[in-house]
Amino acid sequence: AAQQETHGFQTEVKQLLSLMIHSLYSNKEIFLRELVSNAADAADKLRFRALENDSLYEDDGDLRVRISVDKEAGTVTVSDNGIGMNRDEVISNLGTIAKSGTKDFFSKLSGDSAKDSQLIGQFGVGFYSAFIVADKVIVRTRAAGAPTDEAVEWISDGEGEFTITSINKPSRGTEIVLHLREDEKEFADDWRLRSIVNKYSDHISIPVEMYKEEVPERDGPDGEKIPAEPAHWEAVNKATALWTREKSEISDEEYKEFYKHISHDFADPLSWAHNKVEGKTEYTSLLYIPSKAPFDMWNRDQSHGLKLYVQRVFIMDDAEQFMPTYLRFVKGLVDSNDLPLNVSREILQDNKITQALRQGCTKRVLGMLEKMAKNDAEKYQSFWNEFGNVLKEGPAEDFSNKEKIAGLLRFTSTHSETDAQTVSLADYISRMKEGQDKIYYVTADSYQAAKNSPHLEIFRKKGIEVLLMGERIDEWLMSHLTEFDEKSFQSIAKSDLDLGDMDDEETKKAKEDAEKEIEGVLERVKTALGDKVEDVKFTHRLTDSPAVIVADENGMTTQMMKLMQAAGQ
Ligand code: ADP
Ligand code: MG
Repeated sequence: AAQQETHGFQTEVKQLLSLMIHSLYSNKEIFLRELVSNAADAADKLRFRALENDSLYEDDGDLRVRISVDKEAGTVTVSDNGIGMNRDEVISNLGTIAKSGTKDFFSKLSGDSAKDSQLIGQFGVGFYSAFIVADKVIVRTRAAGAPTDEAVEWISDGEGEFTITSINKPSRGTEIVLHLREDEKEFADDWRLRSIVNKYSDHISIPVEMYKEEVPERDGPDGEKIPAEPAHWEAVNKATALWTREKSEISDEEYKEFYKHISHDFADPLSWAHNKVEGKTEYTSLLYIPSKAPFDMWNRDQSHGLKLYVQRVFIMDDAEQFMPTYLRFVKGLVDSNDLPLNVSREILQDNKITQALRQGCTKRVLGMLEKMAKNDAEKYQSFWNEFGNVLKEGPAEDFSNKEKIAGLLRFTSTHSETDAQTVSLADYISRMKEGQDKIYYVTADSYQAAKNSPHLEIFRKKGIEVLLMGERIDEWLMSHLTEFDEKSFQSIAKSDLDLGDMDDEETKKAKEDAEKEIEGVLERVKTALGDKVEDVKFTHRLTDSPAVIVADENGMTTQMMKLMQAAGQ
């Protein structure tokens, strides 16, 4: 008999399993979406590998996924003829969670299943969702090109272990048998499954087939009723790649479900843009902005980028070349008509077509955000709260779109009394004082520190608005953002701050008088501080504090110095 091996699930898988079963009870049917989504991915991968090695098709090139039901046994079976898995792949794909940062993610869970289920949403559920409805899952799979007796059977009750056995499997691909839980038998129903496929998987580009038992009847030669056609497998979805269809014929629901399929996200997207470009470069892009930041957005080696298709053939996931880093939260795909089918990551690196696509996609995303900001401020605010700090990397990275990106930034300012980042540069400019030609800002360790900066005193007194920046990234941002709408930025923490035309004659005179009155003080302070300072100057910018430390006009701000010190420089 074949040797059977028992393996334990990775700790995080066990946590995910119990969390899923307890928190997704109101949305159980998504298990089918996840399994069909995986089957479609497996078809994509096979098609790509077969570009180089036709024999992988094993004379069966019509890729599809089939769903069948055995009411008596209480099982649902999902089978595909995609790429399949070998033994090692089964053990790691169906026993661990491969995403980086997973441990961290699970350590943040609270134990409150309502809250945690929100978190799972960002994490994606995938294959393990089978255990929402099944108390025993059997996976039989054979990798494309492998001998029939090198197939694998994986069995688990989702409690903590799984077994692995070598089996013989003539057909290529993966078959997943779900033994439904006692109170989930409702899913062993043909009609129910069809409606779930229609709801979640209509956009899948390969046929999702179910067996058609009840065929129409016609009159036979002796007047009796006979079947008009034999029972057969039939596609229950549209089975065309969604992005190749006309925009006007795709519903919002279809766009949303397609997003979940390609992003492995569980929540609806915030927004999307679908475009067909014709002319010198020809491509279609479908770009989504998620509603929530992924848990690993700040993890340097997290995967990001778009799915790349060439003439509708899937080429690769996470093609980073088509999106700048400051838009790394964007999900979606590009389908190019110009790139060669045998394109590799190396070829993409240094390629005119790549550059054109990247520029086009960047423009689409910025345009989509501009539109959102203009038409739906609330939605834009929710985008900003999730991804604003990533977008702030933009001006440093993307010189050509600096002005556009600057227009999308949101800040806190002395105009509002909250720490919500809601003020745009256009808002600020519209409130500028007569004679004011600069955009004033202050950076600090936190919003609180910025808000309480002594540098603000004179601005408060004169009623001049100042942008308050308390995020780590702000100093970096401001070292690359020099002007917006032809107005330059001015840190109020720099010396020689000149309020220009906003000082009237009378105050100028008063200042001179005041300076004369305490002339000796300046010299005494200079002597006392000696080498510790570069210079000591009079200022009229303080109204309550006696003194303030400022940076040299051309030097770093104190905030930047702190950053450098923290970095050990
Ligand atoms: P994801 O789809 O987000 O990668 P899943 O939990 O859905 O996560 O699946 C885990 C992995 O298992 C997939 O990445 C894939 O490598 C493998 N897998 C799952 N289902 C299939 C299948 N039907 N055919 C081939 N590989 C599969
Ligand atoms: Mg999946």
